[in-house]
Amino acid sequence: MLYQRSSKLFAEAEKVIPGGVNSPVRAFKGVGGTPVFAKSAKGAYIYDEDDNKYIDYINSWGPLLLGHAFEPVVNAVIEKAKQGTSFGMPTELETKIAELAVAMVPNIDKIRFVNSGTEACMSAIRLARGYTNRDKIIKFAGCYHGHSDSFLIQAGSGLSTFGTPNSPGVTQGTAKDTILARYNDLAHVAEIFESNKNEIAAIIIEPVAGNMGCVPPKPGFLQGLKDLCTANGALLIFDEVMTGFRLAKGGAQQLFGVDADIVAFGKVIGGGLPVGAFAARNEIMNYLAPVGPVYQAGTLAGNPLAMAAGLAMLEAINNDKDLFTRLEEKTAYLEAGMRKVLTAAGLKYTINRVGSMISVFFDDREVVDFETAGYGNNENFKKFFHGLLERGVYIAPSSYETWFITDALTYADLDQTIAVVAEVATLLDK
Ligand code: PMP
Repeated sequence: MLYQRSSKLFAEAEKVIPGGVNSPVRAFKGVGGTPVFAKSAKGAYIYDEDDNKYIDYINSWGPLLLGHAFEPVVNAVIEKAKQGTSFGMPTELETKIAELAVAMVPNIDKIRFVNSGTEACMSAIRLARGYTNRDKIIKFAGCYHGHSDSFLIQAGSGLSTFGTPNSPGVTQGTAKDTILARYNDLAHVAEIFESNKNEIAAIIIEPVAGNMGCVPPKPGFLQGLKDLCTANGALLIFDEVMTGFRLAKGGAQQLFGVDADIVAFGKVIGGGLPVGAFAARNEIMNYLAPVGPVYQAGTLAGNPLAMAAGLAMLEAINNDKDLFTRLEEKTAYLEAGMRKVLTAAGLKYTINRVGSMISVFFDDREVVDFETAGYGNNENFKKFFHGLLERGVYIAPSSYETWFITDALTYADLDQTIAVVAEVATLLDK
């Protein structure tokens, strides 16, 4: 494939945008090479500026569960735009999408809309801190909750229990309130509660991690966290920015039968427009301004175009009773096909999958947390990525990212993908 125009556009972008991109992972830093510039997309396919066609397994990093340019979403946005693009006043549409979200998701009474997953998670922890009147939060190494300061924290060194900033610009003062735990290690979380008695406001977790590749929770892990929170007067926050409306209508809470106290949403809930949201039961949500004391706001929050897209998306999901079965079957088919060809090629690999979230690690040890996810971050992944890209299959340019399967994929697309994986597998190191 030729990438002439993408290369030229990237060179121009680098002059006026840091690294040429508006979000770092797009720059292909982890895998090398020049990012491909998108021109248009429809259904399961994306077309770049050089008119190359790809089967897309990123789907805007998760939102496009029903494929690109999904007609009900596109039409809803066009119709809304004609009536005005923003009012800064309440609209009926906001109540409609809120009602539908509350009906689809278990255990929430009220929802507040924001503009991104970052804002949703940032607001969720502020609300948890306000509600519990405590400062500290527990997050898990390898989970991503957006780029707000409290989350850009890595484990502290040696015996220190609190974290340290993992980006310049995040203060030590902020870092000391975020405690890092190991994913899937309940005993570690219990120890943290023990040594921070009455200080933990909340645990925040991706109920299926998708930012260290796909890492499922071990059986009982999420319920164990809920029990620890209940015993210690802390709140459990599920960051369902990836999993919400993707793993089930009611997200991971429904799939695993575990009730969170606060849930953060993003991605699918906006149908591809900039939307995030956070939700909880009445007693917690009523702590928010203007009813309660915890402040949170947004000029474009509940924006009519974004709400129209989100409502069209949620309605399509809600009205399709076979959607999650189809997604499960398609992704299971892809998994089985890839296992077959990777095994036939004699490669060491691990595939993790929950529903339509799947990832391939090039190492045969079990991947259960951030440390083990790192085993597969290797040369083979880079070769795999570029091999697929050159053959028209677009996966995330990092082994720490999940693939997002859409319902727009046909079995012919999946077969083609498996054939490409088989071909590329022969080029990798055994
Ligand atoms: N939480 C999770 C689980 C995410 O995957 C992401 C984004 N990938 C975020 C939060 C942040 O969302 P946004 O990029 O919309 O700010």
